[in-house]
Amino acid sequence: MTTAELAGQRSRGAELLAAARTVIPGGVNSATRLVGAPHALTAASGAHVTDADGRRYLDYHAAFGAILLGHAAPEVDDAVRAAVGGLDLVGWGVTETEIELARLVVETIPSAEQMISAMSGSEATAQAIRLSRAVTGRPLIVKFQGGFHGWHDAVARNVISAPERAYGDDPLSRGILPEALDSTLIAEFNDLESVRALYERHPGLIAAVIVEPIPHNVGALVPEREFVEGLRALTAERGSLLIFDEVITGFRHAPGGYQEVCGVLPDLTTFGKAMGNGYPIAGLAGPRRLMEHFSSAGGDVLLAGTFNGNPVSSAAAIATITYLRDHPDFYERTHALGDRMRAGLTGICEELGVAGTAAGFGGVFALYFTEAPVRGYRDLMRNNDAAYVAFHRRMTDRGFLMLPLALKRNHISAAHTAEDIDRTLDAARDVLRSIRDD
Ligand code: PMP
Repeated sequence: MTTAELAGQRSRGAELLAAARTVIPGGVNSATRLVGAPHALTAASGAHVTDADGRRYLDYHAAFGAILLGHAAPEVDDAVRAAVGGLDLVGWGVTETEIELARLVVETIPSAEQMISAMSGSEATAQAIRLSRAVTGRPLIVKFQGGFHGWHDAVARNVISAPERAYGDDPLSRGILPEALDSTLIAEFNDLESVRALYERHPGLIAAVIVEPIPHNVGALVPEREFVEGLRALTAERGSLLIFDEVITGFRHAPGGYQEVCGVLPDLTTFGKAMGNGYPIAGLAGPRRLMEHFSSAGGDVLLAGTFNGNPVSSAAAIATITYLRDHPDFYERTHALGDRMRAGLTGICEELGVAGTAAGFGGVFALYFTEAPVRGYRDLMRNNDAAYVAFHRRMTDRGFLMLPLALKRNHISAAHTAEDIDRTLDAARDVLRSIRDD
């Protein structure tokens, strides 16, 4: 390809980004999409995405984890095509698709007796928190340092994984009432005493503890058994609800989410992302005694949403969950590939003398630029974020797409192969060597 052709091609992506900036603030529809060298993407299939300049990337970003079976998975797309030809949105009563989806979820998620559909993880966590407040009559919520549960006001504190802000008040956004921020308390993951201390300081006022059972929004801190079991016991003892936010872990680590893996059952579970393999859908599930507080069942917690349970998203979720239920080997394969990636990355760091360690669970991996062990958020504050940024940029240049933010995770889907992992590790060895030698 001539330089002129290359320049011409390059301008296609640049043109699209420039055009986007004129009509979309900053040119993207979610601010984190702008981190790293932004691309205009034009195609996606299986484990790959293609940009407007025709470059193909092996995709571990997976739309922040919304892709689980691979891009444009035929099982899901066929179901969506069939749904498009059938009953469209009606907004009165219920449809068979919604019943089928709820049945599947209730059969699959251990703590679920009933579920409500939502369109995004943020809506699901907002509902879970409001329901917790209504049921307990208490105002406060506990979340963990670094945990992300969506963009709404109740969970806007201590999300940003920047070390210098780790213990400050760092609301996700301006425009949030101080009362809303003050009603969210912050504890430390894998540190039950930090939760207990909040109960001592605010007796009788904590409605719920919301936790990502594996905080994938800071990579992959794996919970210690005493911690999850302790959270379950403590919240029950103090009359609060325990909410597992399984928006990332749900369906990805096991059909029934991380609660199936660890055997600890929350009161409420939120899920989304991977359940529709790229189509917008999320949900909240729990026991009937809690779920019947929704106004649809005569309770006093509003349940509303024009697109809740819409036929296209529901069909995508039914197809995805059915695939997972019928293909238990999906978990064996992705977990084995995840192990291969983590062992490979950690081994390369050791071999090269780079202070780095790979963490994760199942098909999810994170590369921390710090020595193991990484148990909690305090350990993450030692992470060399600049090294990750360099790693990300150089891997992208070589055609491997990962999450651009230091301390985030990456995803292996049904479409990745052992050969993909090995190619990634070869590239990572070169990149890590170049970072060490900088
Ligand atoms: N909870 C968790 C654990 C998440 O990671 C996210 C999104 N990254 C959300 C909730 C919010 O989901 P959504 O972006 O679909 O609103």
